[in-house]
Amino acid sequence: MNAPLPLLPFADPGAGYRALQPEIDAAVARALASGWYILGREGEAFEAEFAAWLGNKPDAPQMHAVGCANGTDAIMLILRGMGIGEGSTVVTVSHTAVATVAAIEMVGATPLLLDIDPDTYTMDADELASVLADPPPGLPPIRAVIPVHIYGQPVDLGPIKEACDAAGVLLIEDCAQCHGAELHGWKLGTIGHAAAFSLYPTKNLGALGDGGILATPDAELAARIAAIRQYGWKRRYISDLQGVNSRLDEVQAAILRVKLQHLDRQNARRREIADAYDAALSGTSLTPPTRRAEGYHVFHLYVLRHAGRDAYMSKLKSLGIGTGIHYPMPVHTQPAYEGRVPLGPANCAETARAAQEVFSLPMFPEMTDEQVARVCLALRQL
Ligand SMILES: *Cc1c(COP(=O)(O)O)cnc(C)c1O
Repeated sequence: MNAPLPLLPFADPGAGYRALQPEIDAAVARALASGWYILGREGEAFEAEFAAWLGNKPDAPQMHAVGCANGTDAIMLILRGMGIGEGSTVVTVSHTAVATVAAIEMVGATPLLLDIDPDTYTMDADELASVLADPPPGLPPIRAVIPVHIYGQPVDLGPIKEACDAAGVLLIEDCAQCHGAELHGWKLGTIGHAAAFSLYPTKNLGALGDGGILATPDAELAARIAAIRQYGWKRRYISDLQGVNSRLDEVQAAILRVKLQHLDRQNARRREIADAYDAALSGTSLTPPTRRAEGYHVFHLYVLRHAGRDAYMSKLKSLGIGTGIHYPMPVHTQPAYEGRVPLGPANCAETARAAQEVFSLPMFPEMTDEQVARVCLALRQL
């Protein structure tokens, strides 16, 4: 008998490096030889190139980008830059990476967690409208809303932006999983007052270490945040603002400049893989993930759902296909948060159900056609 094929992982950042190795190695060598390692030319060039890439749509605002240490800090820095902290409530969802909620608590604000629409896994816009019109008693005033474009799927920001504008509340997009995704032809991250991007290695745009970047059309806000990320300095050694240390280093910035040039092509490849999975699932008891008609989904993750998830995951494993769960425990049920963080009126019921049923298939742009075919063959056997 043939030895079984090694398990195909659901993500493979090493493959991302190997695919671009000569270009990345040259960029790293250039950064190392420069003799300047933190907040220098590579970082400035990456910020400018990222802002230009985000804003390269008709009618898009001119964007300003600020690099930082990671995606969690990107959210934290936006909140600090907006003056949101203790005495403020920030609304987000429980169906997210814990980082979204951790960042809100880092600035001393109170998170209020809403439920999701079970089809798209994104913030329930009706619940948001009701919470903004009639805030839960006992909470500090709501100052900002952070919808999460989860799995690469755009949140339907139309009604959310309308509700935020009507209530005079700031809109911050968590774009950690949606680099390059669009809604009505606009790139996500250009619709709200500010947007936070993680550059963690497995994200659609990933460093080879930690990194983050935030973007805003508000030049003043960007300048304030650029000071806050380095001790509040506007001039060297003089803190004009209360700051932190959260910087993107030059080696990562040089790597990210290379990877940014390949991002649109890689997102197209992710969508091609998703199309193949969609087709393989027809005739099985599993339904492909919903794609918003007016959106451009970039498939950070390809997520299926079934009440009998565990059996499907074991079957796939026996066929050599790795899977993941994003996320196995909603934030509000995790030990650090349970019974402590306030929930919206829907009590996160759909969030709890989704956590029991979702699972993710292998999805990374360097997957070979042979690997994609292997997954499709396995899916047809489900
Ligand atoms: C990855 C992620 C973050 C945090 O990013 P880090 O770079 O790990 O700090 C925030 N929000 C979401 C939705 C994420 O997926």
